[in-house]
Amino acid sequence: MNIISAIIVFENFHEVRRLCHWGPIIALTVIAVCSSMAVLDSIIWYWPLDTTSGSINFIMLINWTVLILYNYFNAMFVGPGYIPLEWKPENQRDTMYLQFCRVCEGYKAPRSHHCRKCNRCVMKMDHHCPWINNCCGHLNHAYFTTFLLLAPLGCIHAAFIFVMTMYSQLYDRISFGWSSVKIDMSAPRRVHHPIMPFSISVFAVNLFALGLALGTTIAVGMLFFIQMKVILRNKTSVEVWIEEKAKDRIQYYQTGEEFIFPYDLGSRWENFKQVFTWSGTPEGDGTEWPVNDKCHQHTLTIEQLKQKADKRVRSVQYRVVEDYNGAWCPLGKGINTFFRSPCTEEPRIKLTKGETIFATRGTKWWMYGDKVLDEEQTKGTLL
Ligand SMILES: [Zn+2]
Ligand SMILES: [Zn+2]
Repeated sequence: MNIISAIIVFENFHEVRRLCHWGPIIALTVIAVCSSMAVLDSIIWYWPLDTTSGSINFIMLINWTVLILYNYFNAMFVGPGYIPLEWKPENQRDTMYLQFCRVCEGYKAPRSHHCRKCNRCVMKMDHHCPWINNCCGHLNHAYFTTFLLLAPLGCIHAAFIFVMTMYSQLYDRISFGWSSVKIDMSAPRRVHHPIMPFSISVFAVNLFALGLALGTTIAVGMLFFIQMKVILRNKTSVEVWIEEKAKDRIQYYQTGEEFIFPYDLGSRWENFKQVFTWSGTPEGDGTEWPVNDKCHQHTLTIEQLKQKADKRVRSVQYRVVEDYNGAWCPLGKGINTFFRSPCTEEPRIKLTKGETIFATRGTKWWMYGDKVLDEEQTKGTLL
């Protein structure tokens, strides 16, 4: 009953638009090609109704597809969880330890970051993933990582089926000459249960699917290990950077501080349980987090504020001398600027003559930084 009502009352129906993006389109196409080819091949190679192992092979295959899609769609539609707009900490005094988000007009809760793509402050943000066209964060971290585990496992099974099908179909049919390889592609000689012709085009599609499956296994498998490495330390990919920058900052200024990452609870199992739970909902409300004994709720946010101030000191202020419309490859700014557009999905900032920017780094043709907003400018001079 619960399942039926969950389907009918699909509160996040507007989220279906997330499917209209190259990431989900490619990911779902790969899943569709690999699983449907594996099902068809299983019918040719290992007819499921005759033997127990044939049935197990088939059921496992369907299982992979269902579980992969379940975790994929949950990662996409459950989403990371957003900090409520205009959020404030319960204790007014705590605002001094937090950054303020001008877009969400609220404070950034510990571990949250503003995602420019989602245009919201995201709880325990890890990264914005184009493949699910959503952020990976607090609420969907477990679904996302489970998907990263299951996709390679499913692909390995599918790859095995592709290889076995091609082998069993081509066995006895390949003849090697001195300078040629001949494949007999006539109708099958042996009696198969549902006879499906294994033509040269089916062979080609099998090879293509095998390539997709092996590519996915390697690429997604690597992502899984990267994710598990951070989860077992109860970190996010963003926090790995913050920790690196903290060490840099302390070394640069020789402050003698020691930065201890506050959310590492000391044991990998404890850290693992913060993300993976039986209910599927991770521990915590997304704004307050358990910390280790040596730290407190705002250890990380205070470090972030110090880094922000440091970035201000180290960045260079420029005045805009020419308008720029925010185009990815602007036509009127010279050939080098046109062709050397940075290979990032970071948004380009539209500029008007006379505005001020703070650049943290740059090349001769492109600069990385932020535009100084009017109010922020006054805040900047106060600092
Ligand atoms: Zn925000
Ligand atoms: Zn995002």
